[in-house]
Amino acid sequence: MGLAARILEQAPTEDFRDMIHDEVDKWVDQIIDDVFEDGKEPTIMELSQLFSETKQKFFGACFQALIEQKYAGLLEQEYAPCPQCGKMCKKRRDHLKEIVTMQGPSALKRPWFYCVNCSYGFLPLDKTLEISRKKNQFDVQKKATRTAAEVPFSSGSELFAELTNHSVSDHFMHDTFEQVGEYACLEDVIPSNQEIAARCQEVTESSWRPVLVVASDGAHVPTRLKAKRNEKRGKGQWQEAKGFRIYLVGKDRIVHLASWHQIQNEEQFGEDLSFVASRIQQANLRIGLLGDGADWLWKHMVACFPKGRQILDYFHCAEHIHKVAKLQYGEKSQKCLEWVESTITRLFYSEVDNVIWGLQRMRPRDSLAKEEIRKLIGYLQNNRERIHYRGDRIGGYPIGSGGIESANKFICHTRMKRSGAWWVKETGNAMLRIRCAIYNGTYEKVFEKYKKTQITL
Ligand SMILES: [Zn+2]
Repeated sequence: MGLAARILEQAPTEDFRDMIHDEVDKWVDQIIDDVFEDGKEPTIMELSQLFSETKQKFFGACFQALIEQKYAGLLEQEYAPCPQCGKMCKKRRDHLKEIVTMQGPSALKRPWFYCVNCSYGFLPLDKTLEISRKKNQFDVQKKATRTAAEVPFSSGSELFAELTNHSVSDHFMHDTFEQVGEYACLEDVIPSNQEIAARCQEVTESSWRPVLVVASDGAHVPTRLKAKRNEKRGKGQWQEAKGFRIYLVGKDRIVHLASWHQIQNEEQFGEDLSFVASRIQQANLRIGLLGDGADWLWKHMVACFPKGRQILDYFHCAEHIHKVAKLQYGEKSQKCLEWVESTITRLFYSEVDNVIWGLQRMRPRDSLAKEEIRKLIGYLQNNRERIHYRGDRIGGYPIGSGGIESANKFICHTRMKRSGAWWVKETGNAMLRIRCAIYNGTYEKVFEKYKKTQITL
């Protein structure tokens, strides 16, 4: 049997093997040229750099060979049924598409069909392979978006190139991020009923009824209006991102359930909280509601979790006490420390009226002190029913949003408050939604949803 005949009879996997061997040879030639020149003694770093620079092209070519073999049928297809009416259509021409995956650049020449009945052009291979219309494919888009959720777009694209030897523009990063963000809706960013039930089950032990904690707060985010083309950037303005974090306190651990933050008004905040509350089986849980003194968050937390125990954030409360002490007695004076300690102790034992009584009898040192004392009295009167820290401790309820509870700060501040960053509201909210998805463990789901919409278009 001649060579040609033998090749014809080869299994497709053997063809693939041959194609890869060709690519290996090309790559080896390149390495030989670079490394084995007379007198050269490259170091580890130089050799590693050479691999980094050449492997994208090498793997991209292997990747292409794999597709060409695996999908030879689709690539050589002459007729295909119209996805809309089912009529058999003849191939019009081959369409070359350059794609980039995390493996490197590849090119696919695939048949393009057109149905005259429907005036509809289609590419069967694209549907099967889930090819993105962008040059950078979904695997790149997914990692780029994940990167942009952590660092600014410009340094994100630099970092991405540095770590993956794969350059993407900050423009691509920004665009893709916004598009993925559009599909990150509350329904998907929040874990499903089943997922929430499973996490509740995880912390329920026979002797311990877990505490579901709902902690709400607002964080100020620097925003600006979107500028029109050729127009100067809009004027900056601070807006409040309102959000909540819901988690379970088990006997010896904390299990996160859901975070959600958006630059939005309190009405929308209430609607979102109510939606998330509807995914939680409240009956078998003890519930603690945690917040600072802002009325809007209490109104909605109580409406959504009516049997929740209301707890005024201890640290926020203590901050008010410190402020008065500083103005009245002077920072770090003995009297200041003593007063703070005794006041906080009394609040710990729910002696709110006692503290208010004392404040009312205090002789303000000056007008500043007077104003702060007046504010503290109002604050304590407003939140009287929410101060019972000793009882909270005994019941296993958290009393403050320090440490683990500060997800709001983690989600909002670390990415949103970088110096010089002013967010267009829509982009800022997309950023918050994607950061929440990552934190909630739902980013996969969100990205899948985005991907599906891009393929069926
Ligand atoms: Zn058709």
